[in-house]
Amino acid sequence: MTSTSPKTPAPPKADAALVEKLAMANRILYNQGVVDGFGHISVRHDKSPDHFLLSRNRAPGLVTAEDILCLDMNGDLAEPSEHRSYLERFIHSEIYKARPDVMSVVHSHSQSVIPFGVTGQRLRPIFHMSGFLGSGSSLFEIRDGAGNTDMLIRDTYLGKALAQSLGASNCVLMRGHGSTTTGPSIEVVVYRAIYAEVNAKLQIQAAALGPINFLTEEEAALAAATTEAQVVRAWDLWRGIVQAAS
Ligand code: MN
Repeated sequence: MTSTSPKTPAPPKADAALVEKLAMANRILYNQGVVDGFGHISVRHDKSPDHFLLSRNRAPGLVTAEDILCLDMNGDLAEPSEHRSYLERFIHSEIYKARPDVMSVVHSHSQSVIPFGVTGQRLRPIFHMSGFLGSGSSLFEIRDGAGNTDMLIRDTYLGKALAQSLGASNCVLMRGHGSTTTGPSIEVVVYRAIYAEVNAKLQIQAAALGPINFLTEEEAALAAATTEAQVVRAWDLWRGIVQAAS
């Protein structure tokens, strides 16, 4: 279980501002409707690439800095704690192992994305705000490697399979479950998780009207570079909304 002795030496304490930002990201994702009582966001440790930060098993809308735990790449707690982490922490550990470029990961069950996974459709960039979708989302089929399950990524085997399905993309749909989004920072991954949901809604609406003229891969890359360079503007707004409500 998570409170057993660590296999990897515990790293120095993470930057307090990073811990605070991760807690805020939890509450933003709840406020923006990406996560509800479930779902989570992590960030790679600022002093050890072999560790990451993730809340204890708690609803994201309630998470504060005191709830943030440090985990290693086995999904074990870096230091003994009375708290336990999420069942699906292996989503995070295995993606950080497979993708050195990824600094932050969001896992959610946001509703508009679900119809895509169950029909084998990709999310594709429908407008400039979702250029990060590039040539489209990846798809993870848990039944391929594990047969009938409760659909959760509850061990390293399933986490690794998910990371393989993600490949080099920024978003993997999980059939009958949800999605996982990756990014180079907390601010960017929060932005991407919010706009994956927006893109899904718009893509469903547009598909009802007729064939969709998606952004080309090049348009997507150009749009992503411009929009994501200004992501702090949106972050400041989302943070302000959360702070005003508390
Ligand atoms: Mn889940």
